[in-house]
Amino acid sequence: MDARMNETYVRLVCPDCDKDWEASPDDLPAHDEEFSCPNCDATRRTAEFTRTERDLETLKQFK
Ligand SMILES: [Zn+2]
Repeated sequence: MDARMNETYVRLVCPDCDKDWEASPDDLPAHDEEFSCPNCDATRRTAEFTRTERDLETLKQFK
């Protein structure tokens, strides 16, 4: 059974390579910490990977 629909997730997009994906806030660093794109290894603050303001708020809420 897939419970993913009920889980909180943050939608991400890489500003460098345009990879887009979703991740649980548990698997991400805080918004003001550095994070590396799993596709191209670009390192930026996690906040720069969040797709929308709402995704950023979700991340902040859980960190
Ligand atoms: Zn990338």
